[in-house]
Amino acid sequence: TENEFHNKTVCVTGAGRGIGKALALRLAELGAKVIAISKSDENLKQLVALNNKISPVCVDLCDWNATKEAIKPHLPIQLLVNNAAVAILHPFLEVKPEDFDVLFNVNVRSIICVSQEIARDLIERKLPGSIVNVSSQASAAGLKDHSIYCSSKAAVDGLTRVMALELGPHNIRVNSVQPTVVLTEMGRIGWSDEKKAAGMLSKIPLHRFAEVDDVVEPIIYLLSNRSAMINGVGLPIDGGFLAT
Ligand code: NDP
Repeated sequence: TENEFHNKTVCVTGAGRGIGKALALRLAELGAKVIAISKSDENLKQLVALNNKISPVCVDLCDWNATKEAIKPHLPIQLLVNNAAVAILHPFLEVKPEDFDVLFNVNVRSIICVSQEIARDLIERKLPGSIVNVSSQASAAGLKDHSIYCSSKAAVDGLTRVMALELGPHNIRVNSVQPTVVLTEMGRIGWSDEKKAAGMLSKIPLHRFAEVDDVVEPIIYLLSNRSAMINGVGLPIDGGFLAT
């Protein structure tokens, strides 16, 4: 399995920073041809500066048609990680309809858009595939001020199950991962406050947040043939948070 990513094209969304960036770099290191989608050109330039074999695709995933057009030249894509997401946190009583639209557009609708384009093409070519959707522990646990974020990630888990059901017969597997807090830019929005962090840490049996690599490695496993019979699962990467 050492060489299984050679000659494979992998698309990672939200590859401009955080988990997606580390994942794109690791997959490129494993020999994959990496298509890195992100919104800001500056972050993509910095990514390509670290590995110039990575192909950057600058597109706003909220733009359905532009996203489909941007992907087309790179098909076929056998491996896909739907990682892009945004977090906007407000107490439930202060949530605005705009927050709902942005979060569901990026966190849920973009998965449908990108995966449709890639899966349709694989089915036509009769090629197998593996898709990993990046969900969160927030899909299965209520977190204060995270009402829309939690809702969007619960939707990702539901979507993952139905994609697994409908794409499975075409030999395209679909799974999700549910990480706990990772102190990326997004993680810091919710958890840089020491008191809040301590409250969360006390509920994680391993007593630490996840490192970026703690998330990257299980995603690579789910992309690989080592997980050939795993389809439709949500894998917690949370040090035991969801088990308690
Ligand atoms: P970051 O906020 O660090 O990075 C998010 C990436 O998504 C950025 O590259 C950003 O682009 C991209 N992105 C956001 N909106 C769009 C858009 N409209 N179009 C294209 N790209 C977009 O997030 P993380 O690395 O922390 O999170 C990665 C995944 O992990 C997400 O799905 C998140 O929900 C999940 N997760 C994160 C946790 C955490 O604590 N950090 C915990 C559990 C799950 P740009 O660089 O251009 O801004």
